[in-house]
Amino acid sequence: MTPGTRLLVSAEGDRYRFDPGSLSLELLLTGGPGPYERYEIAHIPADLAEWFTGSRLALTAPLAIGDIQLRPAEFTALKELRNALYRVAPAVAHGEPPSDDDLTLLNNATAATPRPRIDPETRQLVWAPPVTGKQLLGAVARDAIELIAGGRSGRVRECSASDCHLLFLDTSRSGNRRWCSMERCGNRAKIRAYRARTETA
Ligand SMILES: [Zn+2]
Repeated sequence: MTPGTRLLVSAEGDRYRFDPGSLSLELLLTGGPGPYERYEIAHIPADLAEWFTGSRLALTAPLAIGDIQLRPAEFTALKELRNALYRVAPAVAHGEPPSDDDLTLLNNATAATPRPRIDPETRQLVWAPPVTGKQLLGAVARDAIELIAGGRSGRVRECSASDCHLLFLDTSRSGNRRWCSMERCGNRAKIRAYRARTETA
């Protein structure tokens, strides 16, 4: 699976790929507050470290579990940031302003980000180890800030299916992505449209 694209399972057990288009929106897939608690996959710091190895950070350069150093306090901070993103991201998708408290939280989280370096032997881009929890926090917060204030806020969308709340950044050239995944909600909409046509005919 391409880093940054995640395999999700619907309530009916269907598996489908979902590309949220941005790191901060991808983090929402690890679980969350209230009704999202049942999706929680980050129970201990190692869970979240493992998750980051498959995140879109690994699109830029490979990220191995042994490269990541995630302390308990940083793990807690990442989860607090995730809670804030559960308020901020839907607000952006619906054209509403995020709260001042959440903006402060984001602004205070940007101190560090993973450091890129060129491996002298392979001349390939790598992340300088250790990639710390503070750097991961910063990467997510910076990504979220770019989503809110970087000119692409109009491309933050909620899936058009009425029963689906997945959020994504539309990175398509045409800018008309409507569905979380063509395999899931896109396909369900096609089937509905087909049924509607055949029923009228
Ligand atoms: Zn959907």
